[in-house]
Amino acid sequence: MPLVSMRQLLDEAAKGGYGVGAFNVNDMEQIQAIMMAAKQTKSPVIVQASRGARAFAEDLYLFRLIQAAAELNPDIPIAMHQDHGNSFETCRSAIALGYTSVMMDGSLKEDGKTPSTFEENVAVTRKVVEYAHERGVTVEGEIGVLGGVEDGHGAGGSGLEHITDPDQAVEFAERTGVDALAIAIGTSHGAYKFTKKPDGSVLKMDVLIAIHKRLPNTHLVMHGSSSVPKELQDIVNQYGGKLKQTWGVPIEEIQLGIRNGVRKVNVDTDNRLAITGAIRKVFAETPEKFDPRDYMKPAREAMAKVVAERMTEFGQAGHAGDYKPIPITEIAKGYADGSLDTRPSLAASR
Ligand SMILES: [Zn+2]
Repeated sequence: MPLVSMRQLLDEAAKGGYGVGAFNVNDMEQIQAIMMAAKQTKSPVIVQASRGARAFAEDLYLFRLIQAAAELNPDIPIAMHQDHGNSFETCRSAIALGYTSVMMDGSLKEDGKTPSTFEENVAVTRKVVEYAHERGVTVEGEIGVLGGVEDGHGAGGSGLEHITDPDQAVEFAERTGVDALAIAIGTSHGAYKFTKKPDGSVLKMDVLIAIHKRLPNTHLVMHGSSSVPKELQDIVNQYGGKLKQTWGVPIEEIQLGIRNGVRKVNVDTDNRLAITGAIRKVFAETPEKFDPRDYMKPAREAMAKVVAERMTEFGQAGHAGDYKPIPITEIAKGYADGSLDTRPSLAASR
């Protein structure tokens, strides 16, 4: 099946009341791990690549691998998404390759580090929305600034410094027309998200709930939402790793988000930990081995296991066959005639 519009995937998730994991990929084994999990759990899926991933794997290698995944798994809807686009050009080049969704993260300037002004964010995001929607491609924006740094992208800090203001989120959705919106509620990128199990003082689920009430048609996105389970940290450390103890976003908080408008949940760190733990284990237990397949195979299996667990926990499991993919060209018509317009003022008048 051809790659699917992320908008369709998220609209279906909203109808079904579930969330969809968006898993980052850099290489063949990670793509295979996601597809193994999707097949096993019968899940629609979002595969995403950061700018760092596109540079590491080279655009064409990575995109052809995604196309292979789609061809080999005709029963599974797959959306291909640019994670944290830093400029119009990054988004344009992803669309030119065939990505069906892009994130324009205008919360930061093009350097991917310095927080931008609200007006700068609106302007660049709107430009991407106009270009992408004409081509039937979905757009995710970001308002507020996430904490931490991943793949060289991020403002750093704790995640509490730029929590999304609900009034600004509404104005941003109105002025840009984004399909999906990443909001900052205290989460951070990377492994070190929280120094203790997060509670309401550091994870602002009330802000998320307030935004969803006012933007019921804009799909909310949780970034930095790995759970960083202790078991995965322990395996890495048991076999020679030196991770400091850390806490991620508990699954039950993500599930609370999903009950309140979260449709896309970004997970990367948990998969990185699973892969590294599995490879370390092989190296530690059988140091005589030197065939990369001897450790890449268990690494792939370890990631597939984590992804399958998340798919079940987010509720997307079992939904792969619910709907027929709408061609991107048809989606473009929906944007052109206004039927896919999510802007709050239009939703109120419908
Ligand atoms: Zn992110």
